[in-house]
Amino acid sequence: MFVGHYAASLALKSAEKKASLGLLFLAVQFVDIFFFPFVLLGIERINVVENFTQSTHFELEYMPYTHSLLASFLCAGFIYVVYRIVPPRNKSVALVMGIAVLSHWFLDLIVHTPDLPLWSDTSTKLGLGLWHNAIATYILEAALLAAGLWLYLRSTTATSSIGKYGMGVFVLILLLVNAVNIFGPPFGDSKESLAISALAMYFLFAGAAHWLDGRRS
Ligand SMILES: [Zn+2]
Repeated sequence: MFVGHYAASLALKSAEKKASLGLLFLAVQFVDIFFFPFVLLGIERINVVENFTQSTHFELEYMPYTHSLLASFLCAGFIYVVYRIVPPRNKSVALVMGIAVLSHWFLDLIVHTPDLPLWSDTSTKLGLGLWHNAIATYILEAALLAAGLWLYLRSTTATSSIGKYGMGVFVLILLLVNAVNIFGPPFGDSKESLAISALAMYFLFAGAAHWLDGRRS
């Protein structure tokens, strides 16, 4: 899953206003932010395979360190502990940040082919395979994002006209990017270009979310 993960960021921000939306955008992609550098370093493996599913052009071969259920809990626990240790040590912010990290695995579970390990690469691998249906994948991510946006807009107030329309326009851009991602050709022909473009988008989207959130209170 790609932009659908941000539904969790928007929903968690509406639940805990003190959490940073920009950091929530990074938290929901936390395990991917490690996965792609691990791919570049040869620690985990992705293979570019055109039309591997209707929605993807890659096979996720080996990723126990970032995408096992155990690793997801450990990453979420790590973020929770960091937020409890570093001032202002807000417990509910720590909780929503941890949940954001954990949400990645459960949303991935819906769309991935059985490539998500429970704890190690030799353990059972799960994935409900919605990626095999590109239209259903697109609609699911769009519906999640729309629901997240609705919760976010309902619980915050615009302080400028950018604040009023910005987040809605941003979500439309995310949906457009996802249309290219799901229905378009492979994103470059190497795993390096896939990894670098994914990482660039994660940080760009988090920056945009942070900036737009500053236009609402
Ligand atoms: Zn992932």
